Amino acid sequence: MDTRNLHTGGISLVGAPNVGKSTLLNRLLGQQLSIVSRKPQTTRNRILGIYNDERGQILLFDTPGYFHGSKALDRYLEEQTLKTCAGVDAVVMLVDARSGLPPQALLDAIEESRVPVVLAINKIDTLDKPRLLPLIDKCSQAFAFREIVPISALTGEGTDELVSAMFRLLPEGEPLYPDDQLSDLPERFFVGEIIRERILHCVHDEVPHGVAVCIDSFHERPDGLVEIDATIVVERDSHKRIVIGQGGKMLRLIGQSARERIEKFLDTRVFLKTFVRVEKNWTHSPARLDELGYSDF
Ligand code: GDP
Ligand code: MG
Repeated sequence: MDTRNLHTGGISLVGAPNVGKSTLLNRLLGQQLSIVSRKPQTTRNRILGIYNDERGQILLFDTPGYFHGSKALDRYLEEQTLKTCAGVDAVVMLVDARSGLPPQALLDAIEESRVPVVLAINKIDTLDKPRLLPLIDKCSQAFAFREIVPISALTGEGTDELVSAMFRLLPEGEPLYPDDQLSDLPERFFVGEIIRERILHCVHDEVPHGVAVCIDSFHERPDGLVEIDATIVVERDSHKRIVIGQGGKMLRLIGQSARERIEKFLDTRVFLKTFVRVEKNWTHSPARLDELGYSDF
């Protein structure tokens, strides 16, 4: 292959919770890698996805939503966002077309890091077209964005233009990973994310985000079946009761729907065992966050 003129580099997706970062990442990669939820803050760890086409390779980082908070988990998420921006060639900042400008604190932090920023105005499928131009205008006055691209991560509108804008900011270089590799994160991480997404989906608003999933063991048998032991960590006894449900009904439901998704993701049969454990205030303890896997890869 002639590798001249190929461009390769890292780009992180940043923005307030719920603007559609995970949806965009999934659309670009064409596979469900990062979890998508209506509730804010579901993406806790950065996820590296790899986009390939004839122009080169983009390493994508999906960051947690940027926001200010007092708890250790909030601080961790914020730090992760800033850290992810430090090592990349460019940043794609997302805003929700309905709410307009990105948070000022985020703009200030990014400006300090001096990385070029492309603004993607997402969810334009929800906006009356005449309102788009004034919004673009307002955004271009708020910050020196390299480019502003209106998109819909949901329908795919504008996402090709966004990818072109990304390639324009990447240095020339050969691909770093083979082009069939979607992500360099271990499968067990995604399995944990799938289970966590299923919990949030099944228990709705009854258990807030103080829920973590540890994959205690991940073992592939010679016949191909994958045995997984997972512990669901919650903050309160009442949350444990909700997650387990009457006679264990809820936990069975969570386990079953998680297993189906994990089987699809791993493309093999899965035997999933789940346990629920209460750990008071784990979201307040930096040491515990670290142990539960919310730290650097
Ligand atoms: P994140 O927190 O930034 O990762 O946001 P998510 O990707 O989890 O998306 C949050 C919500 O917005 C989900 O319900 C998505 O389906 C929805 N969403 C994302 N992109 C679009 C879009 O382009 N149009 C519409 N209408 N909804 C979107
Ligand atoms: Mg997300």
